[in-house]
Amino acid sequence: MVEIDSDEEIRTSLCLDCARHTSVKKIIVQDCTKGRCAVCARDDVDVRNPDNLEPLVMVIRALIRFHYDEHEYNPHWGGDSVMSLFYKADNPILEPPKSNLYVDDFDEWLNWPPYPDWDKGIAVFAGHDEGGRGMNFAISRTNPGEFVDLQSRLLTENFFQVEPDLEAFIAPFLNDIEIQLPQGEVWFRARLGEAAIYRRFPLAGWESKIIRIPWQNEAIGAPLPPKAGFGRLNRAGVSVMYLASDPYTAVAEIRPHPGHHISIGGFNSLQPIRLADFSPDIGIFATSDERLSLYAKVQAFDRLMSMPVTPDERTPYLLTQLLAEVLLRHGFDGVRYRSSVSTGSNICVFYPEKFGFVGDHSEVRRVKAVAYEWASVPSELAPRPDDRPYNRRV
Ligand SMILES: [Zn+2]
Repeated sequence: MVEIDSDEEIRTSLCLDCARHTSVKKIIVQDCTKGRCAVCARDDVDVRNPDNLEPLVMVIRALIRFHYDEHEYNPHWGGDSVMSLFYKADNPILEPPKSNLYVDDFDEWLNWPPYPDWDKGIAVFAGHDEGGRGMNFAISRTNPGEFVDLQSRLLTENFFQVEPDLEAFIAPFLNDIEIQLPQGEVWFRARLGEAAIYRRFPLAGWESKIIRIPWQNEAIGAPLPPKAGFGRLNRAGVSVMYLASDPYTAVAEIRPHPGHHISIGGFNSLQPIRLADFSPDIGIFATSDERLSLYAKVQAFDRLMSMPVTPDERTPYLLTQLLAEVLLRHGFDGVRYRSSVSTGSNICVFYPEKFGFVGDHSEVRRVKAVAYEWASVPSELAPRPDDRPYNRRV
C-alpha cells in the first residue's frame, strides 16, 4: 500500500456515478481506473483515467454546445458560469455536485484552454472575431445556414438542381453515420383497424366474445408503388418500408385516435441492413469544433425527419425525400432517425423485400387514450401597428 501524504498528488477526474448522459458514461468506460471524482469528492471510485482527460472534457463541452445557448452560461451575455449549468437538477449531462471540495478542478478543465484550434478541440464560448463578439446557439435547436438554404431552394428549384449541393453537404459525415443492422432483428409496423371481426360463441355458458384478426403479411407491409403515398423519406409512388423499434412507437407514429383498433405486426431483417443513422452518439463527433459542426448537420436532418407535421404540410419532406435518393445511390438500404412521439427510433428501408413478416408479434390493440403535450407560443389579440405580416415559407 502506497501512502500518499498530500492531496495535491491525487489528480481528480469524473466518476461513472456522476455521469448522467450515456455519451459521458461511455467515454469514462473507455479508459477507466480507480480514482477521485471532482464532482462527488469520493475516492477510489471508477473514474476516467486522469492522465487522459481531454476526450472526456471534449464530450462534456460538446454536450454543453448541444443543449445550451451561450447566454445561459457566459457571464458576458448575462449567464452565470459553465459550472452553474451542472447545479441545475434537470441538466442532462452530470449529477449536480455534492461537494465543493474539488469542483474548481473540474471548472478548470472545462474552461481551459478556452479557444482550442477549430480542428483540435471544442470551445464552449464563441469568442471574438473581426465582426465583434459572437454567440453560440444550442445545436439541438439551431439549423445550420447551409441546411436552411437547401430547404428554401427546394421551394423554387427542382430536386435535381439542388441534388449536387445536398450531396456535397452530407459527404463529410456519411462514413461516420453508417451502421449495420444484423440479420434477424425484429422491427414493428402498425395499421389502423383489423382484417376481420368474428363473434365467438362459448361451448358452454351464454357470453360470446368479439375476436379480431389483425392485418398480417403484405396487408401490414409496405404498400406497392401505385398505392404508396408520399412520406418523410419517399415521394408518392415509391414503395419504402417504415418500421419502428417497438410496438408502442409503431402505433404512436400512425397518430391514432382514442377508440381506434390498431393491428401490430413484426418484421425481421432477412440480411444485414446498411443504414445511415441520423441519431448517432455525439461522442463520435466530440473531438473538435470542426467535427461538432458536422454533428450539427446530422442533427438538423434528424429533427426534420422526426418533426411532427400536420397532414396538409408537404414542404418539410422535400429535403428528406431528396436525402433518401442520395443515400440510396451511395448504397445505403435505409435511414434511422428518432421518433418524436416516443423514446424509440424509426427506420425507413428503401427495399421492403429485405424484411420478412413474422407472425408471432401480431395482435390487435385498442387505443384507450392519447396524451397531448403543448407549449405556449407568443400570441396577442391584435397585432401592433409596426408588426409585419409573416409569409410562411418552409
Ligand atoms: Zn462522482
